[in-house]
Amino acid sequence: MARKPLIAGNWKMNLNHLEAIALVQKIAFSLPAKYFERVDVTVIPPFTDLRSVQTLVEGDKLLLTYGAQDVSPHDSGAYTGEVSGSMLAKLGCTFVVVGHSERRTLFGESDEIVLAKTKAALKNGLTPIVCIGEGLNVRVAGEHVEYNIAQLRGSLAGLSAEDISKIVVAYEPVWAIGTGKVASAAHAQEVCKAVREELARLASPEVAAGVRVLYGGSVNAKNVGEIVNQSDVDGALVGGASLKADEFATLSAIA
Ligand code: PEP
Repeated sequence: MARKPLIAGNWKMNLNHLEAIALVQKIAFSLPAKYFERVDVTVIPPFTDLRSVQTLVEGDKLLLTYGAQDVSPHDSGAYTGEVSGSMLAKLGCTFVVVGHSERRTLFGESDEIVLAKTKAALKNGLTPIVCIGEGLNVRVAGEHVEYNIAQLRGSLAGLSAEDISKIVVAYEPVWAIGTGKVASAAHAQEVCKAVREELARLASPEVAAGVRVLYGGSVNAKNVGEIVNQSDVDGALVGGASLKADEFATLSAIA
């Protein structure tokens, strides 16, 4: 099954709503409409920027989409600081990142929490970008495939084949995030292929063939081509390089 590549720019905790508008305008106007027929491009700003991005994208009928960096596992109520899936849906979000390694390591998110957030996203019609990835010690021990598959199974436990057909998986080795040490294309392919094989076991080969599996970790305009050329890599989750309009537009056009 042909899978449309996805390039997602995770801005992390950067850019206020005015800076967000400027960046989205620059990216959108650097990419001719025909690019969007071939590649999906999405930006993932902080919550505080979403309303401004929505106004811009809807007002100017831009072809890029946008999403959020996190979602509450709860529907509504006394959860100070949380943002629900229905709130994000109302803001026009297409995607929501769940289980980013920074959430897992800095905020103690377990696979159970990531699963609950994945369910909250699906319940509200959002596409969860479910992140997995091994640390350096696991990589050095050569246990990266087993580790990522265990994390994937925990983060998707009990989801139906239909639910799994609606997700995106992002493989992001922790040792590659923000370090400038991009994984080799062969390493990215090895893990993304194992992810797809596991999705086939959890859902079905047909479902697995349609799920987009992204690579993330120090992707830039120079290295994106080789990575997305791998048969099981369907795009990239991009951090630092997504804050530079020219570089993000260039790497989106290459993908
Ligand atoms: C990320 O945070 O998801 C990421 C991949 O960051 P960077 O591209 O900066 O390594």
